[in-house]
Amino acid sequence: MAKGITRRSEDYARWYTDVVAAADLADYSPVKGCMVIKPHGYALWEQIKAVLDRMFKETGHVNAYFPLFIPKSFLCREAEHVAGFAKECAVVTHSRLKANDDPNSSEKVIVDEASKLEEELVVRPTSETIIWSMYKKWIQSYRDLPILINQWANVVRWEMRTRLFLRTTEFLWQEGHTAHATPDDAESEVLKMLGVYQTFAEEFMAIPVYAGIKTESEKFAGAERTYCIEAMMQDKKALQAGTSHNLGQNFARAFDVTYQSEAGKQEYVWATSWGVSTRLVGALVMAHSDDTGLVLPPKLAPIQVVVVPIWKNDEEHAKVMETVTGLVQSWDKDIRFKIDDRDYYRPGWKFNEWEKKGVCIRIEIGPRDVENGEVVLACRDDGSKSKIQNNQLNDRLRNELNDMQSRLFERARKFRDEHTFEVDSYEDFKRRIEAPEGFFNIHWCGDSKCEAKIQEETKATIRCIPLNKKHESGECIICKQPSSARVITGKAY
Ligand SMILES: [Zn+2]
Repeated sequence: MAKGITRRSEDYARWYTDVVAAADLADYSPVKGCMVIKPHGYALWEQIKAVLDRMFKETGHVNAYFPLFIPKSFLCREAEHVAGFAKECAVVTHSRLKANDDPNSSEKVIVDEASKLEEELVVRPTSETIIWSMYKKWIQSYRDLPILINQWANVVRWEMRTRLFLRTTEFLWQEGHTAHATPDDAESEVLKMLGVYQTFAEEFMAIPVYAGIKTESEKFAGAERTYCIEAMMQDKKALQAGTSHNLGQNFARAFDVTYQSEAGKQEYVWATSWGVSTRLVGALVMAHSDDTGLVLPPKLAPIQVVVVPIWKNDEEHAKVMETVTGLVQSWDKDIRFKIDDRDYYRPGWKFNEWEKKGVCIRIEIGPRDVENGEVVLACRDDGSKSKIQNNQLNDRLRNELNDMQSRLFERARKFRDEHTFEVDSYEDFKRRIEAPEGFFNIHWCGDSKCEAKIQEETKATIRCIPLNKKHESGECIICKQPSSARVITGKAY
């Protein structure tokens, strides 16, 4: 165990914060609740962003950018939407400060009353309203549809209890906002993007997810239906890793966005929105890392391979570096590597440093290895070490990175499956959800009163109604009314 990292078994929350710090991903900001994303954390976000951006473009989407500020009246147009976000909005009321000429005041500057804004501006908590105010200008006829736009942006949701990456007042995300001619088109878009998120989570993040629908009380403010993917972290809590909303005609009605159909009729437009955020960095930390530090899936690791040359004098340094330079040139061009030949740190210190930062593979090479034409290869996830001939190294790296990607996914899936249970007695549920022992699949009648009771008494929530649920007759764990399938419950981040 690395010095300075609390053990997971001791205090999971502390462990998480320690790993984020040890891996040098982020720092606390002078503004409470905000976060500074440091270069290594940002490089990880850039990997996430690059893959998702490609997947969005492959499914026909384009990027655009909408303003940070939203007129307050826009937010109020959709009743449920404003009710959902009102309590966490940052509001701009003035446009400048004025030098304070009162000699008795300790404040150097004060708000200038003359600069009070005519209409207050909300810093976007999400962009539906500003985007739909623009779609009104851009959509007239069925020929203008669909609009398939995504934006990469920051948003602000004023949070009282924050945690680096998982919940911060300002965070980075992408938000897709699409407009369609028919409800079927909108629904297939929503499911398509949920599929993109699921593929990304499982194939790139190596995190298995359940895809499902949120209950009425858990859906997005202003949506008809919210679909989500839910993942299990190592403390057996759930983390919502992406959402895709069918907004129906709610925003089209609020902003009066209609189009002329092929038949010549005026119809309201159908909408979707979908997003993932820097929270995914938190998910990666919590799903795979260990007591030594960060563990990352190779497909997203900013540095996949670090080469640590070992030498005692200048002559050895020159000899080892010559081999290292030749080696890395022979590797596939898409392998992300770094050569660490800093002379002011000892090899052992460097090993520890790169382990904390989640570099997938370490290559050690000293003068004797150069003579033998081999290197030592160490894997971050399982700690295995082996000697590899230089001429086999490229293939071996390729294979090790692929194997590690699969190993991480399989380990996470096994862990989740071993901690997902069916339970029919509310007493058992209450006892076992306390720690929690995992996810519990329970029968639920569909009534929000039973859902609220579960939440009040156990702090657990219905994470989703799974999409691939199997039909099974049962009775609601609370009220004993009939139920036709199980829902997934858990404690969540
Ligand atoms: Zn019930």
